[in-house]
Amino acid sequence: MTIEYTDLYLDGRWVAPATASIIPVISPSTEQRIGSVPEGSAADIDAAVAAAATAFADPAGWAHWDGARRAEALARFADELLKRGEETAIRVSSQNGMPISLARQFESGFPALLLQYYGAMVTDQQDDIRPGMLGGSTMVTRSPIGVVGAIVPWNVPQAITFLKIAPALAAGCTVVLKPAPETVLDAFLMAEAAHAAGMPPGVLNVVPGGRDLGAYLVSHPGVDKVSFTGSTAAGRSIARACGELLRPVTLELGGKSAAVVLDDANLTDDLESFFGATLLNNGQICWLCTRVLAPAARYDEIVDTVTDLVKTITVGDPLSDDTLMGPLVSARQRDRVEGYIAAGRKDGGRVTVGGGRTGDRGWFVEPTVFAGVRPDHTIAREEIFGPVLSVIPYTDEDQAVAVANSSDYGLGGTVWTADPERGARFARRIASGTVGINGYANDPTAPFGGIKNSGMGRELGPEGLSSYQNLKSIYLDMR
Ligand code: NAD
Repeated sequence: MTIEYTDLYLDGRWVAPATASIIPVISPSTEQRIGSVPEGSAADIDAAVAAAATAFADPAGWAHWDGARRAEALARFADELLKRGEETAIRVSSQNGMPISLARQFESGFPALLLQYYGAMVTDQQDDIRPGMLGGSTMVTRSPIGVVGAIVPWNVPQAITFLKIAPALAAGCTVVLKPAPETVLDAFLMAEAAHAAGMPPGVLNVVPGGRDLGAYLVSHPGVDKVSFTGSTAAGRSIARACGELLRPVTLELGGKSAAVVLDDANLTDDLESFFGATLLNNGQICWLCTRVLAPAARYDEIVDTVTDLVKTITVGDPLSDDTLMGPLVSARQRDRVEGYIAAGRKDGGRVTVGGGRTGDRGWFVEPTVFAGVRPDHTIAREEIFGPVLSVIPYTDEDQAVAVANSSDYGLGGTVWTADPERGARFARRIASGTVGINGYANDPTAPFGGIKNSGMGRELGPEGLSSYQNLKSIYLDMR
């Protein structure tokens, strides 16, 4: 049975789209059609932005509710998401190939957690009264920025959506969400949850479509802030548009992070964490540490450990509980990854495991390890967004820092060591927005984001909320 939607969720209602165009959804493991949604058009974005702007301007509406009242609404939204948690995991897994066990964690539970987290934060948030240096005092207030255009990719669609909309809604903003065309069925289920939770009309609107529709939303005169996660190329183009408009923008872009194995590390004790930091979600996460930096004296041993780990990975049906790795999201993505594997061989890298396709249907690529990779090889520099690791030797810690930091990106990173304090000292030297010691996880309390080509701004933590708020200083007692 396929899942077919005929209407869009705009202004708190399911309404007929402006055009008859649809987005078909194809399973990456069976190559069968599993559903469709209407494709949004410029007219639908106009309607969504108008609804969001009207909701934002309502003097008794969402933006003017106190934080506690918004938090109650977000808690109801979280409950409705949790009721649909298993269905959300199944839809994500069926659309993008994410192993179901991971989808339950990232896509079912995390969004509700973020709504609760930011709800609690705005419930407690007070104006800040600061004693002045020139006499009197200043009251620093925070107000919601306005209408947010949120554009998300397909790889971790629900978690990434809520990195944006949980703080935006908690702050009092209203949102127009544009999901990626590959993952729309989960976005429509999320809209059903919002509706069931009684979110006020216009506060959250969902218009799916491709790149052109995203660009239209970015430049729409009714949008006050853009929040984007996706490729660096698209991020540059969005940054240009927002620069011209002087429109605030948060950009979470690509990565090519390093897993630095220090000479005292015992990797075999941490294989599950190492897998999580390097190959999770079929290699399709922006912060994955796909460059493994190994001390030259232990190079062969570490290549063997990583190779043996990869040999144990169960590749197969993403809906099976036992699967650790599913297919890539699309034929295009598989071709891209295979192109990189060919480039790795051409540059002189040696495949120690994988390197080919697997399965008789679906867009499966074998998890692959390259040894003999130099930092200047294409596969060590460019984001592959697939299950391909490069093991690169280093001679001493200073050289490891230099290689780790030679990337154009700076999003994630990990340090593997028997001495966590040494790991933390090393982590300070890595040019990146986030680094994990003996593992990696985006904790909701800590800012997440990148430097260099990995983007601008931070999500999560209190910083994630403040990016949806305008600050105003009211100078008191000026007589
Ligand atoms: P993509 O940039 O092609 O698309 C992402 C989203 O942006 C989609 O919704 C797409 O329709 C839209 N889009 C594309 N071009 C646009 C434009 N010019 N203007 C407005 N919208 C546009 O990326 P993708 O290939 O779908 O996703 C994979 C990329 O996302 C990888 O590079 C990955 O590293 C990155 N990513 C980054 C993070 C992060 O937090 N830093 C998280 C996940 C994915």
